[in-house]
Amino acid sequence: MASPIEHVPEEESLSSESDHSFSCNLCGAICAVTERDADRERSSCNECSSTMRQRGLAALLSQELLGVALSLSELPGLKDVCGLGLSDPEGLAEKLAAKFDYTNTYYHREPALDIQNPGAEHKGRYDFIICSEVMEHVPGPLEAAFSNLYTLLKPDAFLLLTVPYRLGDGIDEHFPDLNEYSLAEVGDETVLLNRTRQGELQVHRDLCFHGGGGSTLELRLFSESALLAMLEDAGFEDIEVCTAGFSEFGVRFAEQWSLPIVARKGKFRLPANETLPILQKLAQKVRNLESELVERETTLERELQSTRTNYEKFVEFHESSQADLERQLEERERWVRKVEEDFEMRSLELKELDKKKNAALADMHQALTSNAQAWEKVAQLERELSRPVLKITRVLRRMGRRAARLFHRN
Ligand SMILES: [Zn+2]
Repeated sequence: MASPIEHVPEEESLSSESDHSFSCNLCGAICAVTERDADRERSSCNECSSTMRQRGLAALLSQELLGVALSLSELPGLKDVCGLGLSDPEGLAEKLAAKFDYTNTYYHREPALDIQNPGAEHKGRYDFIICSEVMEHVPGPLEAAFSNLYTLLKPDAFLLLTVPYRLGDGIDEHFPDLNEYSLAEVGDETVLLNRTRQGELQVHRDLCFHGGGGSTLELRLFSESALLAMLEDAGFEDIEVCTAGFSEFGVRFAEQWSLPIVARKGKFRLPANETLPILQKLAQKVRNLESELVERETTLERELQSTRTNYEKFVEFHESSQADLERQLEERERWVRKVEEDFEMRSLELKELDKKKNAALADMHQALTSNAQAWEKVAQLERELSRPVLKITRVLRRMGRRAARLFHRN
């Protein structure tokens, strides 16, 4: 069985980072977003409600124009750069119009542009086109629509394209026989009525609309390879699927499909008169980055120094506590040895004392025995003496009486 450490899926490793903050490149707000919520269509800026897709497009635009992804507030006005939008969200379109010669257009209202029939006045006019979430709604033939995108661009220009797409091959056309058609309300349901080229009448149900009705009906689902082939057939060169994202602007794609695409026509260069302010702006950006770098270096150096000091303290503590332990152990060993020696000495002394005690007991016993014998002898002698003493007493008494009688006679 493989070790669980060997393979960490990318999504998990991202989500483990919990919250991270980013600066919105459209409005400049500092926002926090959870990686797990990083959906390209979810509004993730709490200031301007921009989505990851919109911020990704703005960052890509800056990168294509200047070679570096600046936020819109950092971007100088480039009014000589001409851009076209196809049904951009209002917020994004307004911000782009403030920086560029930019026109956002609509299918149903002014300023109107139908990519299947753009007016001749649009041909070869634009430095860039933003075509985001449009091509899945455009009625066929698709080749013509892609070809028009190419034709509207100047010789050195580029297209920023997003559509929902899957991996693999082919295009899933939801209504392959679409010819003369319209939407109709039947009860609560919107259905698609279609008369095929052969005159057959069709009713399509379970329709998929993207954020509204009418022209937002999803007609197809592209695959990545079919989409790239369409762009190539239209004449685009140097087509790039942008997998990397711009994490500083909260653009981190969790999936490998439906990513923004840059399709280039020739090689875009900034107009000469726009170059100087851009260079000045970039130089400022570089200076800012440099000072940020120096600051980070200082912080890192400080952190490193503090870590080193802590480490040294740690080592010192462990070394001293080790020495202390060894010293204590040695002391204890010495103490144990001393106790053992004491014990041994005392056992010897005890043995000696015991011997002395036994000898003393024996002596005492001997003395007691001798004493008893002596007293016995005394008693015997007393007994032996008592008879002659009695006799002597009697003799003395008799002699006394005789002496008294003699005394009284004289
Ligand atoms: Zn924002």
